[in-house]
Amino acid sequence: IILTTMVSFWLISLVASIYLSRWSQKPVLAAYEKEKNFVENASHELRTPLAILQNRLELLFQKPTATIIDQSENISQSLAEVRNMRMLTSNLLNLAKRDGGLKVELTTVDQTYFEKIFENYKLLAENSEREFTSSVHLKDRVKLDESLIKQVLTILFDNAVKYTDVGSQIDIKVEKTGQNLVITTSDTGYGISNEDKKKIFDRFYRVDKARTRQKGGFGLGLSLAKQIIDACGGRIDVQDNQPQGTKFIIKLRA
Ligand code: ADP
Repeated sequence: IILTTMVSFWLISLVASIYLSRWSQKPVLAAYEKEKNFVENASHELRTPLAILQNRLELLFQKPTATIIDQSENISQSLAEVRNMRMLTSNLLNLAKRDGGLKVELTTVDQTYFEKIFENYKLLAENSEREFTSSVHLKDRVKLDESLIKQVLTILFDNAVKYTDVGSQIDIKVEKTGQNLVITTSDTGYGISNEDKKKIFDRFYRVDKARTRQKGGFGLGLSLAKQIIDACGGRIDVQDNQPQGTKFIIKLRA
């Protein structure tokens, strides 16, 4: 009996120690997995522009006597890929910096803060032949991080331009309901399926890789927007816009 009890005790403590050591390693493993995924995704994203650049440069060398004008297609495509890579690397650096902890600096603003930002969007929308309207209803001043919220608004506005056709409508509404500052952006563009809605805030997730790449997207904008809104203690949600397109709703305690 003594021997059986001792063996059972030993077995129980062995199982418990294995379980506990696994459990305590879980966050470390999860962080490692996340980092590994990030590096894999980033390398994957750089591989395509690098491969295109290599092809284009090899084509240049195949006709060493050709003039710059003859080779303009190869040169301009190479430049486009270099620009792509610069944008990607600066996005990646931004994200990496933010991973170290996002510092939120609150100031009080009134509705002119939003109106100034939207004036610029109006011009940008006109240039890309989209209709843009905005409405800001703030009786009181609100507390927010001016630079971070502007960054989120710009991500949502850029996407609304990218994922709509010429002639589409983009609206942004800002209002205070109770204790919350609610910002709603809506567009009449391509919309997002319910399946994709669950994933669009993940890093590097793009609904249509080919189309997004053509539009210069890496699937990082919305993950950055969510990271910022989370750090501000708010939430960001996506819905269908009626009758067509996409709507993003941000709620912040302000
Ligand atoms: P990207 O830089 O590729 O645009 P995001 O993280 O900002 O990356 O968006 C992720 C994906 O969500 C996009 O690739 C696009 O497919 C989809 N998406 C984002 N905003 C919209 C929108 N307003 N309408 C339709 N699809 C959108």
